[in-house]
Amino acid sequence: MNEPRMSTKAIWAGESDYLAFGATQVPVVHSVSYGYDNMDEWYEVAIGNKKGHIYGRNTNPTVEAFEDKIRLLEGAEAATSFSTGMAAISNTLGTFLFPGDRVVSIKDTYGGTNKIFTEFLPKQHVDVILCETGNHEAIEEEIAKGCQVLYLETPTNPTVKITDITRMVRAGKAAGAIVIVDNTFATPINQNPLELGVDLVIHSATKFLGGHADALGGALCGSKELVEKVYHYREINGATLDPMSAYLLLRGMKTLKLRVDKQNENAMKVAEHLKTIDGVESVFYPGLTEHPGHDIAKQQMRGFGGMLSFSVKGGVDTVRHLLPKLKYANRAANLGAVETIVGPSRTTSHVECTPEERAAMGIPEGLIRYSAGIEDIEDLIEDLDQAFHALPEHLFAR
Ligand SMILES: *Cc1c(COP(=O)(O)O)cnc(C)c1O
Repeated sequence: MNEPRMSTKAIWAGESDYLAFGATQVPVVHSVSYGYDNMDEWYEVAIGNKKGHIYGRNTNPTVEAFEDKIRLLEGAEAATSFSTGMAAISNTLGTFLFPGDRVVSIKDTYGGTNKIFTEFLPKQHVDVILCETGNHEAIEEEIAKGCQVLYLETPTNPTVKITDITRMVRAGKAAGAIVIVDNTFATPINQNPLELGVDLVIHSATKFLGGHADALGGALCGSKELVEKVYHYREINGATLDPMSAYLLLRGMKTLKLRVDKQNENAMKVAEHLKTIDGVESVFYPGLTEHPGHDIAKQQMRGFGGMLSFSVKGGVDTVRHLLPKLKYANRAANLGAVETIVGPSRTTSHVECTPEERAAMGIPEGLIRYSAGIEDIEDLIEDLDQAFHALPEHLFAR
């Protein structure tokens, strides 16, 4: 038989080792510690010579099933997990960056990641270089000057810019850097960065992987050697994924392929429809042929993703009137759930930044981030139409 395809993997992968009592579903093991009558066996497990569990901050069977499923979906040798996506990012950067080191990244990373780069790492005397997202030459030039870590995110939050992963891997490898990609927006359904030569893939499992906006979590996939280093950092520093969240994420992941396929489709149709609406200024979606990253996205992604953004005529005023009128959208800071979610970027992904910082990142104050859910597309389109029609006239008269 062939290697199982994505949907089959999402459903079956990583579960069989964790079933007990004939159960067909992975149990939620809430036990903090694991007991041993045999002192020699306990010792063997404790030093890692024998498979088993010792203490919940280190490992847990439910959490391990989650790690195994994301590992198989990303085609990785190893995976580990974290309490949140930001814990995955901070623990990974913390593992590989030391005083005097240099990290190259882009200006458009997730707001929290950007804060690590601009606020925390400089205090630890790590030299942080943030390049213009999408300017591949500028990134290559900075990489060539030497760096320990090359950190990328593609597509980016919130203007869904695309970075050529293969090209960046080539430059990163030549400089001897560890290449990391935050794959949260794409999901393993649309993009597998490890296949393109990336060393480590990070996920905020809170978003598409869980898909139901009811559990926080993070994941890291890559080679055994690198993942084990980050696992060690995490087990000591303590940002452990809890078993109940691991269970909710596992359950959500079973429908990952179904959901993401539908979200890809809905996002494309919403993006196309927004272009025909009078009050819309610009639409950002890599699936649109006029999007600057479209050709690269077509090469490295199997689908263009569920995330898009658009700016409206009349700026923040219009946003203030428009968003409350939407019937089938949560106005919230999350993304990647079964429900459509909208929010102004200045309140969601980049709330940590000042207006000046957002402007420097090319994020208009009137930008709306749109995370397509799995509703019927006709309803999403009718909803946008009625919301725009109900706007006060004066907003577009500028
Ligand atoms: C949400 C998000 C994060 C952070 O994840 P949390 O689970 O909220 O900590 C990191 N990267 C991207 C791209 C995200 O969207």
